[in-house]
Amino acid sequence: MQIIPMLINGKWVQGDGQAFIDVVNPSTGEVLAQLKNASKAQVDEAVQAARIAVESEEWRQVKAFERGQLLLELAQYIRMHAEEWSLLECRDVGKPLTQARADVEAAARYFEFYGGAADKLMGDTIPIEDGILNAVVLEPVGITVHIVPWNYPLQITARSVAAAIATGNAVIVKSAEDTPLTTHAMTQWFARKFPKGIFQHITGLGREVGPLLTRHPDINHITFTGSVATGIEVMKAAAQNIVPVTLELGGKSPNIVFADAPMEQALEGVVRAIIQNAGQTCSAGARLLIEEDAKALFIKRLVDRFQTLKIGPGEADVDMGPLLNERQYVKISALLQQAKEDGYVITGGDTLTIKGYEKGYYIQPTILDGVDADAELAQEEIFGPVLTILTFSTVEEAIALANGTDYGLVAGVWSKDLDTAHYVASRVKAGQVFVNNYGAAGGIQMPFGGYKKSGIGREKGFVALRNYTQMKNIAIRYATPERT
Ligand code: NAD
Repeated sequence: MQIIPMLINGKWVQGDGQAFIDVVNPSTGEVLAQLKNASKAQVDEAVQAARIAVESEEWRQVKAFERGQLLLELAQYIRMHAEEWSLLECRDVGKPLTQARADVEAAARYFEFYGGAADKLMGDTIPIEDGILNAVVLEPVGITVHIVPWNYPLQITARSVAAAIATGNAVIVKSAEDTPLTTHAMTQWFARKFPKGIFQHITGLGREVGPLLTRHPDINHITFTGSVATGIEVMKAAAQNIVPVTLELGGKSPNIVFADAPMEQALEGVVRAIIQNAGQTCSAGARLLIEEDAKALFIKRLVDRFQTLKIGPGEADVDMGPLLNERQYVKISALLQQAKEDGYVITGGDTLTIKGYEKGYYIQPTILDGVDADAELAQEEIFGPVLTILTFSTVEEAIALANGTDYGLVAGVWSKDLDTAHYVASRVKAGQVFVNNYGAAGGIQMPFGGYKKSGIGREKGFVALRNYTQMKNIAIRYATPERT
């Protein structure tokens, strides 16, 4: 059995922890590899190595455009190994191969985007007075910690690592315990190409290994992507050392469908938004807000679509794969059982057994109707293929429902009327609003992040580079040269 090693201080090492943690293919139940927890001493060694590396003359002398070139080289390497990495991600997460391929492509594009941006992030000068040159420069923050969830391991690692390296930082990645495989593949490339200590990979259980990193007094920034509950823990840990955080947390994002929506696109958009990665997506369109007049027909067609979706192992490249693990499977199937008893399920609601894949964690894509807008099913992230329907009659009602949760990550607005669409987009409290589409083809270039409990700060796009820089003002007084 392969044990996923960590990369610490330029060396491949196994975690010091006693227990082996299984990395399971959710489609088949097969154990793909194992890993072990990093110990406190190993995390300390990684932080110390990162400190030495990031402050070394060797790293300081790597020019911004050269850092960029290295990232572009990684993008090329990813593209060369696209099929192999797609298969790894597909097996590790259980997602359909087409979606895994899209993740690999997105990862390559993050490295291209930030590789290209590495020498284009500029400071400023400020006019003070004659005889003073006032420059504002952007310096690397130093040691950046990246804590990654299991649902899009490669994409999410790529998006923050690329921006952090482009700006000259050291990086320590803690991959999710369920899905370390593509991060390990990426680490192998960094180990060959980068000075030791600039890129390191730590493995282990989040609740045990995570705090060793987030509480460490010598780190300079944490990018955490994951649940709100863990985000709170991360923020508390960071507060002890006044370390800035970028938090990308969960959502209960609405798709708001008006009666004048482009119905075919809206239907497809609503379906894709909730079944992608079996609903295990932070920006999943988990709530359908539908205008009363359009409801009957739209729901009928939606139910038809849900019932014809192909569900099966990721490698068969179906419409929807399994849930990630037994924990999610048990939690969500119990919740659906209760929803059935309460009479909310209009399609789905059951677990599925797929012939030949009996150990996979399959459930039916499910639609719930009649749920109260304040009920848990309409408020909390389920993180599965479960769509909750709420109905509205006026624009103001739609906006109130859209804003009626603690989250604010993404919203979809579907209407052919530009006035309605613009008005709603301006009133919805979400970091990204999509009009007559949902997701805009991934949007590497677009700032992404949450209002309210969906997070702090923005990832993606040019703006994310600022997460990994420290601003310094340098005022230089110069004298008028004496003239002879
Ligand atoms: P999680 O919070 O359980 O874990 C995320 C990561 O944090 C994992 O690597 C885990 O090992 C680690 N971790 C766990 N406890 C920790 C602790 N005490 N200290 C430090 N690290 C710790 O989340 P998850 O179940 O892996 O992912 C699902 C959640 O992530 C969902 O809520 C989803 O919405 C969110 N998510 C958000 C985005 C986004 O960009 N906004 C993207 C993907 C997922």
